[in-house]
Amino acid sequence: MNVRDSEIICGLLQGAGYRVCDSDQDADVVIFNTCSVRKHAEDRVWSLIGSYKGSKIIGLAGCMAQNYQDKAFQRDPAISFVVGPQDIGKIPSILDRLLALGQSQDEGLFQRKVWETAAKERPDEVYHTSFRADKSHAYVVISEGCSNFCSYCIVPYVRGPLRHRAQSSVIEEILRALGSGISRITLLGQNVNAYCQGDSGFRGLLEEVNALEGLESFNFFTSHPKDANEEFFRAIRDLEKLEKSLHLPVQSGSDRILKLMNRGYSVKEYLALTDSYRRIVTGGTLTTDIIVGFPTETEGDFQETCALLKNVGFNASYIFKYSPRPNTQSSKLADSLTQEEKEDRHKRILDLQREISNRLRGR
Ligand code: SF4
Repeated sequence: MNVRDSEIICGLLQGAGYRVCDSDQDADVVIFNTCSVRKHAEDRVWSLIGSYKGSKIIGLAGCMAQNYQDKAFQRDPAISFVVGPQDIGKIPSILDRLLALGQSQDEGLFQRKVWETAAKERPDEVYHTSFRADKSHAYVVISEGCSNFCSYCIVPYVRGPLRHRAQSSVIEEILRALGSGISRITLLGQNVNAYCQGDSGFRGLLEEVNALEGLESFNFFTSHPKDANEEFFRAIRDLEKLEKSLHLPVQSGSDRILKLMNRGYSVKEYLALTDSYRRIVTGGTLTTDIIVGFPTETEGDFQETCALLKNVGFNASYIFKYSPRPNTQSSKLADSLTQEEKEDRHKRILDLQREISNRLRGR
């Protein structure tokens, strides 16, 4: 999602007469388009901003910007502007304003700080800028935000509730990308399979995309188990341009932890889904996300997650160590595991997944 947002920012700035540099050393303006999902990502951004102090205009965009708002200026005075994900369309005018201020000797330091974090949604036209980093593949956002409120997740707080883009606008964006020589598409959303526009659900959108001339293949990220069903799996099987793969985050193999995470399904329900996916999409790949070290996770809970990994046989898993995020429900629970315990579980489950992946690859 952030890769696509960065393209949108570049496209908007190009449209306003700015030039995207090959090297940050040549840039007059450096914009950090940030993620708040894990603390580690935030720490890296603060450290990188520290390395840019000097004559450049520094902007903080994305989820950290939404989260910190004007407090970002206290955290690092080198930052000149802060723009939340719903406000990225304002970046060209903010820069024009800051550059004009830069030429005025009368303005005090405070006037040189701008923050825009109040918008509830972004105007659809921002998606139609033409900048694409990859000339053969394009990311296309179909929905924004999330209303699931998983207890550990900051996304609903920084990206707002789930909103769906109009299907006609999504198709128009894809047609424009195809017209510029792109042949592969990834549909993006925090919860793509909840997509719904009028009478059309996610399957309707997939069918329309599949029928587009010039498109060779497409896929989507990310699906939520509670919105997955057999009709969805049959669409993956039946639409010939749609990749036969599914990323279905499970997060934990313990019902007790799933409940604390507010994920909305049990292990039994998740296993029933993966069984029907395997049965319907024969030979399709299956990947997942796992969080280890969630508050109160015992060795027994962790072993249940390992058992689920073995049971399902994921082709790959993206495994993360829990870190509390501000405002979330789980941040009110004591972060009960030490960093060493989290690292130990992280290593053990990574080794297990490596074994499973290698076995599935026939190594
Ligand atoms: S589904 Fe849960 S983890 Fe995914 S973005 Fe929404 S709240 Fe976050």
